[in-house]
Amino acid sequence: MSDLQELRLSFEFFPPKTDKGREKLKDVSSQLNNLEPDFFSVTYGAGGSTRDNTFNTVTTMKENGLSVAPHLSFGGDNEETMLALLKQYQQHGIDRIVALRGDKPSGIGGASQMTHADQLVTFIRENCGDHFHLEVACYPEIHPEANTYDDDIRYLKNKFDAGANSGITQYFYNPDAYFYFMEQCDKIGIEQAIYPGIMPITNFKNLARFSDSCGAEIPRWARKRLESFGDDIESITAFGLDLVTELCETLLENNAPGLHFYSMNQAEPVTKIVKNLGLHNRK
Ligand code: FAD
Repeated sequence: MSDLQELRLSFEFFPPKTDKGREKLKDVSSQLNNLEPDFFSVTYGAGGSTRDNTFNTVTTMKENGLSVAPHLSFGGDNEETMLALLKQYQQHGIDRIVALRGDKPSGIGGASQMTHADQLVTFIRENCGDHFHLEVACYPEIHPEANTYDDDIRYLKNKFDAGANSGITQYFYNPDAYFYFMEQCDKIGIEQAIYPGIMPITNFKNLARFSDSCGAEIPRWARKRLESFGDDIESITAFGLDLVTELCETLLENNAPGLHFYSMNQAEPVTKIVKNLGLHNRK
């Protein structure tokens, strides 16, 4: 069992587009901050489509005293634009970045010559030294574009060799996928911590659609059970809460170093899971 006080807890948001969304996020981030996360992170739209929105969300949260990390991909930007953005983050006291290739098709093939995330890690290290703690994306169920399992792990190692400090996984519901993945990472010599990404279950239809496209598997038995609830949100949420709490318990009992929650800008599902796990007063 991991030591409760040592566990790293982080919560992910997407940048809101409207004033109403911004107001809501202020409230949600303040509620989630009561759980004493180590940091929040804010996603970056494919192809840099949320560049300003992500930047504004991150700097506002930072001004409000929260520890926050932007996600960043090179998208359609050239190196000069990327560097300017990195320097701005540095000036605002941001010291952690989630460095990604970004989603296709708009995530690559723009003005930058970079095609994979390890190049972004190298670029940040070359231009900003060790200022930023760099997180990279990992895929226990393997990235959908990867040719083979071994290739994906080898490319992940490239990201760590380029200077990434730790990893955050795509969400998954089968803990064995994470445990096997960690064994393979260990075998290839990856020593950095890899934090499981946890997606609470609230809206099954959206989750099923998204899971198909990003290669995250909802086990058949759970999918069938969730489907049987139809539009009964209460039953979906209750079942999802039990399933995800158990998943987190299994991960922590088997030494996962912490948890990263995909909050979908909602406080309640994450708060319930964190409280079920007894992590709300871990410090
Ligand atoms: P890479 O590490 O570059 O890997 C992409 C694919 O290329 C993999 O199949 C890999 O095996 C392969 N590959 C890597 N290097 C090489 C190489 N040298 N030669 C050949 N093949 C190679 N998307 C967003 O748009 N915005 C976000 O904010 C965002 N946040 C995320 C946060 C987390 C924690 C995770 C897990 C994912 C996130 N994503 C986000 C999704 C991510 O951008 C996509 O999964 C994307 O398709 C891959 O990004 P990556 O950084 O893993 O790319």
